[in-house]
Amino acid sequence: MSISPPQPPQGPASQESDRLPITELFTSIQGEGGLVGTPSSFLRVRGCNLRCGWCDTPQSSWEPTGSLHSLEQLVHFCEGGPRHVVLTGGEPLLFPQVARLSKALAVQGHHITVETAGTVWCDDLHCDLMSISPKLGHAAPDRGGPSLAARHEETRWAPDIVARLSAAFPTQLKFVVRPTPEGLAQDLDEIDEWLAAAGLTELPAEKVFLMPEGVDPSALPAAYQLLSTAAHARGYRVGPRLHLTLFGHTPGT
Ligand code: SF4
Repeated sequence: MSISPPQPPQGPASQESDRLPITELFTSIQGEGGLVGTPSSFLRVRGCNLRCGWCDTPQSSWEPTGSLHSLEQLVHFCEGGPRHVVLTGGEPLLFPQVARLSKALAVQGHHITVETAGTVWCDDLHCDLMSISPKLGHAAPDRGGPSLAARHEETRWAPDIVARLSAAFPTQLKFVVRPTPEGLAQDLDEIDEWLAAAGLTELPAEKVFLMPEGVDPSALPAAYQLLSTAAHARGYRVGPRLHLTLFGHTPGT
């Protein structure tokens, strides 16, 4: 297996580009967060500055695939489709072109959700829902050696960026947590640290989703049950992963 190194934010040359590296274009239902069940077009960029060990979209990070698409092609793909469009990845905010794309889609009347790990700021973005999934310690890469692990650890922790994104856009936070009693307890402590560091302790608790780590649909009911206790105690929401239930762990869904 080839390991693609994390990609740094794009430079000025890319800012002039009208093309985006895309690994998947598809129409499905939103499987996660507050808009779960909503028919949506998904534009998944190729490229991420993190390398989570349990990454469920390696085609956009560890083993990138796909090709360049013009912004015009991407807008055209969404025309006539659902009103909701999800810009996801990978890490869409690495690419300045995403800002121009988001504005062009907004002009067409689309609702734009941006799915991000919250480690990068992007100027001039249009976003109706900033869906931030800050990565906890258990997301550490499981291959690639100590230098990749150190880079991942340094990059994933960006509470200043999460604070800035949350202040600028309607926001939900989706934390991927381990569906075991010990792992969940540690992850809840880390979530407390995140919220405090990002100045988000006053964020309405129902904007915080606990999503079980894993891609096995048969494990979801037990995981939801475990997470529901913590969600009930804190006012958080259990974050469904409806696409896994409906389609399994299948690209393009
Ligand atoms: S941030 Fe998302 S796309 Fe990037 S490595 Fe982690 S899980 Fe994969």
